[in-house]
Parts: sequence; structure tokens; C-alpha cells
Amino acid sequence: MPKNFLETPIEYLKGVGPKRAELLKKELNIFTFEDMVEYYPFRYVDRSKFYSVKDIISDASYIQLKGTISDMKLLGKNRKQRLSAQFSDKTGSIELVWFKGIKWVKDKIKPDVEYIVFGKPSIFNKKFNVAHPEIDAVSDQEESLNKSFQSFYSSTEKLKTRGLGSKGINKLMKNLMVRIKDFVPETLSNEIISNLKFISRKDAILNIHFPKDQRSIDQARARLKFEELFFIQIMLLKNKIIRSQKIKGQKFPLVGNYLNRFYKDYLPFELTNAQKKVTREIRTDLGSGKQMNRLLQGDVGSGKTLVALMTILIALDNNFQTCFMAPTEILANQHFYTLQKMLNNLEISIDLLTGSTKTSDRKRIHKNLLNGSLQILVGTHALIEETVQFKNLGIVIIDEQHRFGVAQRAKLWKKNVIPPHILVMTATPIPRTLAMTFYGDLDFSVIDEMPPGRKSVKTYHYFDSKRIMLFGFLKKQINLGRQIYIVYPLIQESEKLDLKDLMDGYESIVREFPLPEYAISILHGKMKPADKNYEMQRFVKGETQIMVSTTVIEVGVDIPNASVMVIENAERFGLSQLHQLRGRVGRGADQSYCILMTDYKLTNDGKKRMETMVRTSDGFEIAEVDLKLRGPGDLQGTQQSGILDLKIADLIKDEKMLKYSRDLALKILKEDPDLQKEKNFNILQNFKKLNSNKANWSMIS
Ligand code: ADP
Ligand code: MG
Repeated sequence: MPKNFLETPIEYLKGVGPKRAELLKKELNIFTFEDMVEYYPFRYVDRSKFYSVKDIISDASYIQLKGTISDMKLLGKNRKQRLSAQFSDKTGSIELVWFKGIKWVKDKIKPDVEYIVFGKPSIFNKKFNVAHPEIDAVSDQEESLNKSFQSFYSSTEKLKTRGLGSKGINKLMKNLMVRIKDFVPETLSNEIISNLKFISRKDAILNIHFPKDQRSIDQARARLKFEELFFIQIMLLKNKIIRSQKIKGQKFPLVGNYLNRFYKDYLPFELTNAQKKVTREIRTDLGSGKQMNRLLQGDVGSGKTLVALMTILIALDNNFQTCFMAPTEILANQHFYTLQKMLNNLEISIDLLTGSTKTSDRKRIHKNLLNGSLQILVGTHALIEETVQFKNLGIVIIDEQHRFGVAQRAKLWKKNVIPPHILVMTATPIPRTLAMTFYGDLDFSVIDEMPPGRKSVKTYHYFDSKRIMLFGFLKKQINLGRQIYIVYPLIQESEKLDLKDLMDGYESIVREFPLPEYAISILHGKMKPADKNYEMQRFVKGETQIMVSTTVIEVGVDIPNASVMVIENAERFGLSQLHQLRGRVGRGADQSYCILMTDYKLTNDGKKRMETMVRTSDGFEIAEVDLKLRGPGDLQGTQQSGILDLKIADLIKDEKMLKYSRDLALKILKEDPDLQKEKNFNILQNFKKLNSNKANWSMIS
């Protein structure tokens, strides 16, 4: 028997046994009593209300009827056979049908007995019927009459064949409640419970599974949702506190020559207020003696690179080295050239390390890193290899963070005795609610303003039939001296097909835009890095007017003269990806355009995505829609975390509660960082338990 009764393996529950236990584990991740306790119903139906047949007006929800069943007959043949019966009460009658379990139903139902029939009406041949209703004789109902609300649990096909559909789970739940009701520990402090007028955890658990009425459901939900969100925040914030206590950071007290000279003489444009604000936040971090772990979020084109550069200069002023990591070679190349150009007059040594760096260059880079003469290293994943050793690494900047795994980031920490400061930059707009959970332990800076003079990108959604018109438009733009991206989807599962789409598209574009008048670049993931770079450079230099590519150009590429983005099969892209792609244009002074090409046939989600793109260019708004369409589990970067499999709270609907729980968690930890005060005893116990259960918590940062 485990020390904690709730950790009892699920096979020991009455009605489970080894075989069902195996299934519960596989299908629902239920291993212990406690897992089962937290398997909450997704719906309740009020079983105290009875409908009259004549009152059935919609097929929207479950109803309960009381009356007799007659006229049972088998209809159809073989596979299509079904059992039909008439249900009647005083007000009328309705058909009941069964496609499965026919024999069992036939044996069970007797004429002249009063039944309670429960199910969801649907319309067939313009009449309502109820398929596979639940049926109980009124005389058998004593037991269920006192539970006026019935809970519904989601189940799976496999579980249903083992008698563990919603009703079966409900039965187990009843057995479980009997066993555990004296073993449900309180997890919140009395203070919180009384201030927020919560019911106890024990009552919440009993009520969530077997509520008496709507009010008890509401109370249980409020309490359990709050608790779930609150402990996520406690975990994240505790991690953050522990880290800031344990881990020292390099102190960068100086603002010296490099930054000052750059700012005075070489800054290419006036900084936006937002850029100034986040630079100040970063400077404060760097001077504090604690390790910085900051997420810098700014919409595509908001000017994050410049902020990165100034951060680098602060490190150089304090005699530290820096590295700047990008997710693709194209992007690493681009950052390298941009930085080199901007730092041209400051006598700073900078180098580039990617997968295609030659061995001799690699050797030079390794040597110069170790002897300290190389100050800035730009590169890709190649940077985190163990052979790359620094003399004194002070800051790591990670651009477009979502392409980097957590584990990869962790390796960077080991590159100096005192771990370097880390600045993670992302343009993936993260809804506030997600940021508060997923990044709850990082500090957060936002560039919420675009450089001046940007014209917003005009976005249109065209069906394939408008292709000729599109080509005409593109020609006009090229004649005005602009450049054009045409992007094709690349989804791994169908890589070959995608490549064919791309090549077919390329050929038709070459036919439409022939040499010598037009020149076209092509770029896709299967090309060698050197070829990619060559094609990219031709486009950068303006030698080609059209860039046909897959999404390799999705992140970060900055070519101000490119003013049209055509996205083929746009319905196959997610919203955040479309937003990223659109962000490649609208970077210069000219009016820019984004054209979303799709088939006529679109799913509802697809339509909504196109509409959203046409309507707004606000990255946060787009992210909110994305979150609603896809749910948080699908958002980039969150899959690996596991922390967002919330059991009861909803990041969108419960946003207010989330904010409140975060504030409260902060307040409590400020007052009592180690949760040592008597009144926080329950919180500490639960924190310890969660901490030992969830290996993945330590991964989030
Ligand atoms: P992102 O945030 O997407 O990485 P970039 O750093 O690539 O954006 O900047 C986008 C473009 O805006 C670049 O061409 C850059 O030179 C320009 N830019 C950055 N900051 C400013 C500013 N304060 N004023 C005008 N242009 C700016
Ligand atoms: Mg960028």
C-alpha cells in the first residue's frame, strides 16, 4: 500500500481489475486513484426534468421522457438491420431506434411498463427520433432519482467495448468516491478559501462528479479551476525564484565605448520608444548580478535585431563574448551580414559558424573563441556543439526561439562557469494567457510598436480562378522595380508531393515570366546550403525579381524591396505561419501586398483563417484567433511542454481567473518565498507533491 492512499494503483478499485486497469492506463492515462479523481466529467444533464414528447423542438441536447414503449419491430436487412419502437407519453409519440445490441434491448423491454427514456433527439425524415436511448424502468430508478444531475465522461471506442463508456466510468467513480472521501487533502490555505469563498477540496471533488444541482457544479468548478491555475503559477514562480537565488549571473556594470559610439555615430535610425523601453529593461537585468532569462517578443518587422545588437554591445563593453543563434543558415547568414555592416566602423571581430563552414575556418573560429579575440559569433545549431568553447561567454541571443528545443537551450548554459545571460527573441505572437503559463518563469519584454512610416500590408484572398489577373498584377509590380515572393507549403508527411507542387509552380511561373526580361530564384529545403545561399543572394542583390520557395524563408528574412508575398495553397498554413510569411513584406517604404491563393473548397477553419488574415495584421489578435481555432496544445512550442494539458481550466475562458491566480501566487511567494509559514502549509505540501510527480516541470525554462 503506498504511503499516500490516493496513489493506490487503479486495479485495486472495485470494478476495475487488471484488464480494465490496463485499458484505463492506455486509453485515459489513469494509473492511480488520484488520476481517476481528476478525470472530470465534461457535461452534466439534469435528470430531474422530464420532457413531454410534444415539447421536443430541437436536437440540441439530451432530454428525458417518461412513458411506455410499444410496436417493436425489426427493419432492414443484414448489416442495415435496426430495431424500431414507438415511445409514447400523454402528449404524443416518437420513434426509438437501435442499430446495435438489438437482442439485448428486445429481451429487456416489456409492454405496459413505464420507462424513463434518456437520449438525444435527432431529425430523420423530418421527424424526431432517439437513437440508442438509455432506458430504465421507473421502478428501477430509486437509486438514480436522488442524483438529479448525471455526469458525462468522455470515453473511447475500446473502453466502450469493455463496458467503460460514460455510464461505466460513472459507476467506477461512485466506487471511488466511497473509498477516497476521507483521504482528500486540502491544498489551499484557509486564508484563500475564506477570502475567495471556496468550498473545500473534498466537497469540490465529490460535487464535480456527483453534483446535487447547478450551484454545486459551479462551486466545484470554480474551486478546481482556480486550484489548477494557481499551482501552475506557484510552480513556475518558485522555479524562477530558486533559479535567481542559486544561479549567479555575470554583472555588466559598464556602458562603455562600443555602445556609446554606436548609439551616437552609427545608429541607422532613431529607435522607436518600444525599442528604447526594452533595451532599458535588458540593461537593468544585465547590471543586476543575476542571470537574465528574458523573452523578447515583437511582431515581425518590429526591429528586434537592433535590440539584439545593442545587447551585444553592452556585453562587449564589459569584455565578454557573445553569440547570436538563428534557426536556419539563411537567417544566420543574414544576421551576420547585417551586424557586420552595422559594426563596420567599430573594430569589432565577428564571425559566422554554420553547418557549411569549412574546416579551416572552423579551426580559426575555435582558436579565436578560446583566446578571446573573437567577440561575436553568429551561427546556427552548430554553435551549441561541445567543441565550441568560449574564453568568456557573456550573452547568448536566440532568434526565433520556437525552432530551438528546450534541451538545446540548456546546453548553452554550460558554456561558461557562470552561465551566460539569455535573451530569447520571438515573433510568434503569444496570447497573454499562454505567455503567463508557458513562459511564466521567464521575464517578458514586448516591442509593441512598429518603426515609423510602415504602410500596412494589403491582404487579399483569391481563388485559383484569378490566377491570370494575379500574374498581371505581379508584372506591374515588377515593372515598378519591386520583388516578389511566391511561397508553397511544405508539410513533412507529403514532402515529395509538396516538392512536385513547388516544381510545377516554378515551371509555370518561368513560362509566364520568361528570361531575359525576368529572372527567378528558387529555394527549398532539399537544396545544398551553398546553393540556397547563392539563390538567396541573387534575390537580395536584386538580380532576380521573383523568389519561388517553400517555407524556408518563413522566419526573419529581411529584404525591404520585396513588396509582394503570394502564398499558394494558403489554406494549408496555420495562422501564425501565414502571419510570419506576410511579415516578410511591408519592410520598405512601398505599399506591400499579401495574396492568399486557395481552392474554392475551404473548411470552416480555413475560411476563418483567410478572413482573419484579410481583416487584421495585429499579431496578438491573430494569435488569439489561432488559440481559439486550434486550442493551446497545438500552438508552436507548447506541444513538448505537457503543462498545458489542463484538466479543467480553460486558458481562453478563464483568463481572468488565470491573471488573478498569478497575482495571488506572486503575492504569497513574495511574502513567504519558501512557503514556510504555518498558514501556507497546505500549499507547500501540494507544491512538494506536484514537484515530485512531474519531471517535466523542470524542463520548462
Ligand atoms: P524583426 O523584429 O522581425 O526581427 P528586424 O529587426 O528584421 O525585425 O527589422 C525589420 C526592419 O525594420 C529592418 O529592415 C530594420 O532595419 C528596420 N528597423 C528596425 N528598427 C527601426 C527603427 N527604429 N526605425 C526604422 N526602421 C527600423
Ligand atoms: Mg528577426
